[in-house]
Amino acid sequence: MKPFFIYNTLSRSVEKFLPQHPPEVSLYSCGPTVYLPQHLGNLRAYLCWDFLRRALEYNGYTVRHVINVTDVGHMTSDQDAGEDKIEKTAREQHKSPLEVADFYLKLFQDDLAAIHVEPPLVWCRATEHIDAMIELIERIIAAGMAYVTPSGVYFDVEKYRGENRAGRLSRQSLDEQNAAQRLEHSADKKSPHDFALWVLAQPHHLMQWDSPWGRGYPGWHIECSAMSMKYLGETIDIHTGGMDHIPIHHENEIAQSESATHHPFVRYFVHNAFLTGKEGAKISKSAGKFPLLSDVIAMGIDPLAFRIFCMGAKYRSELALSDDGLRAAQSNLDYFREFARSIPAGAVSNSSDAEFSCEYRERFLDALNNDLNTPQALAVALELVAEAYRRGDYNIWNTLGAFDRVLGLGLAETQTAAANSAIPVEIQALIDARTAARKSRDFKRADQLRADLEARGYEVKDNRDGTTVYQLRHA
Ligand code: AMP
Ligand code: ZN
Repeated sequence: MKPFFIYNTLSRSVEKFLPQHPPEVSLYSCGPTVYLPQHLGNLRAYLCWDFLRRALEYNGYTVRHVINVTDVGHMTSDQDAGEDKIEKTAREQHKSPLEVADFYLKLFQDDLAAIHVEPPLVWCRATEHIDAMIELIERIIAAGMAYVTPSGVYFDVEKYRGENRAGRLSRQSLDEQNAAQRLEHSADKKSPHDFALWVLAQPHHLMQWDSPWGRGYPGWHIECSAMSMKYLGETIDIHTGGMDHIPIHHENEIAQSESATHHPFVRYFVHNAFLTGKEGAKISKSAGKFPLLSDVIAMGIDPLAFRIFCMGAKYRSELALSDDGLRAAQSNLDYFREFARSIPAGAVSNSSDAEFSCEYRERFLDALNNDLNTPQALAVALELVAEAYRRGDYNIWNTLGAFDRVLGLGLAETQTAAANSAIPVEIQALIDARTAARKSRDFKRADQLRADLEARGYEVKDNRDGTTVYQLRHA
């Protein structure tokens, strides 16, 4: 088994991936806040983690993937200030918070299905895990790392200063963080760095639960710690999120989790870079206007071309959205599909691929295992198809089918649909006549029939398992 390497934000270096309990891998991805549609930048994030998950599975790992859904507690500012995002939309749209969350979660899941992001093992909603959050907050208080005030329970960041503690992920000291951000804070907080674990005394807040400290609702960060521990244990192999989560959300997740458990919260923190808009800025919901998958579809571009477009950049590199880039991705998708359509059903079960495909298999795996180099892996898959055309030897289906477990383009379905409808009756009659001629050793007639088929755009190849028929590309 070749080792898999991935960049770990904790060490700021590419590391050999060693899960705690191979072949199992626990993977937690910070999920969406479901108060608006998820834009193409958000979709890029989940595509990155889908490539990661599929690459690990390609390597023989079994991945337990969990994604949370933030349906309470995420304020309009990441530092506890402002209004709850879901409640803001609920007020604006005259809906209940639950209706808002259900509506935007369904939109998001439909988009993910269209771009072939595998559903996680568990989707966990914050509002359904309040007990787990309360339990974890109690542990943090018992460890002496949080304090209760009339306005809420706060994590005591000052107590978390020290070697390998606050600022470990962002590599920023608390004082630097303070200088960089103007933190709004309640008079009850001992320090502006302290963040809310549980919010109290907000009677206008629509979503409230009883707790040992009074009626209130959880802070945003605690949900990820509580739910990841519930489903994946106290130490996760891989935790993912966008780079925007490094300085606040993930710092806070580490601080509160490790204060409660006293063991490492995450072994590999992996962060994706942003999709930027046409003006070069990060696509974000707060900008007010943001591109959606439906805009891509309205351009006549297939959702899976957006998948290919994202595959064309490394997860750690910024990617600029462009119409030309999307069109180029569409033509790559068409290229793969055209090839898949030209493969006959019989070729799928043929276990022996052309010898030249071996080298491509090596290169594809090397690309994936080198810090998830998806642009390289994509290039290898395209080159393989090009070489099959160049040689006129299309026996690469097993290899391409295996690659598609990571590419996720559904090429097997494309091929099956085409094979089921592709061969017209008169062509099938010629094929059957040729098979009969060969059986009766009438090779002259068999050759005539082969030429006839070729003239009609079908190529026949005889192999150990019988005869396979390929529809010629430009027939
Ligand atoms: P949110 O719903 O804003 O919490 O975002 C959900 C996920 O999408 C988070 O992991 C963000 O880091 C990520 N994300 C947000 N904007 C972008 C972007 N423009 N490009 C890539 N990822 C993003
Ligand atoms: Zn999170």
